[in-house]
Amino acid sequence: MTSFAGVRALVTGGASGIGAAVTAGLLARGARVAVLDLSVDGLPDGVVGYRCDVADRASVNEAVDAAAQALGGIDVVVNNAGVGAAGTVADNDDEEWLRVLNINVVGIARVSAAALPHLRASADAAIVNTASVAATHGLPQRALYSASKGAVVALTRAMAADHLREGIRVNCVNPGTADTPWVARLLEAAADPAAERLALEARQPHGRLVTADEVAASVLFLADPANGSTSGVSLAVDGGMHSLLLRPD
Ligand code: NAD
Repeated sequence: MTSFAGVRALVTGGASGIGAAVTAGLLARGARVAVLDLSVDGLPDGVVGYRCDVADRASVNEAVDAAAQALGGIDVVVNNAGVGAAGTVADNDDEEWLRVLNINVVGIARVSAAALPHLRASADAAIVNTASVAATHGLPQRALYSASKGAVVALTRAMAADHLREGIRVNCVNPGTADTPWVARLLEAAADPAAERLALEARQPHGRLVTADEVAASVLFLADPANGSTSGVSLAVDGGMHSLLLRPD
């Protein structure tokens, strides 16, 4: 197990789902972790939590500064906070487009910009962003969400180019449908949650949902200073969806 002893990490959206799994994984490997989230109730012992809305620059600047002070610096930023949006281009109005892009895309820019001075001072700095298979696959009824996650992949590459020579690596993960409270909420809203779950599972090449721990393992892999020459990549965590063409059973 890679040691993150001495590593100071900031995780947005770290109170639930994938972010909570990343937080737990970093903690278990010896990192000091600060979580920035809308609500920071119930975080594990040892984690410092800051109530923060990544859609708001003042909130982000305040929380990142407080986290950096509490941790004594920042080596790793995991930009994971995000929200979903359903529908075609005809279904979301301008307000909804701007709300979701403001969280999923501009939120990453805000948190990263606030953390940059601290990352530049780190010996081994890494940023890992959470994108999605929606960035690379045309999912029906996910126009706005897909656009936001495609932008995360492009932003990841651009940030990687801008900051490589400063010693900051920037990568992202592209999870498939993952078993988190987010997906649980979607299932609860379905007419037949059990049937909807089976349908979601059947869509995955490996016949099951991705786990939050599996996504976290890939986030930690990309954050690991041992991968010092890996920057600008999108790591698919999708049961092979991005590259496999399976015969039906
Ligand atoms: P989740 O809803 O369980 O957790 C998301 C967390 O982000 C929550 O704690 C929430 O409070 C926080 N958050 C939301 N808006 C925020 C804001 N404005 N400021 C600060 N924090 C905010 O969801 P999850 O499934 O763990 O998703 C985490 C990330 O993974 C998201 O970026 C999502 O787009 C991405 N993702 C999820 C899946 C999936 O199937 N679950 C698949 C691909 C990508």
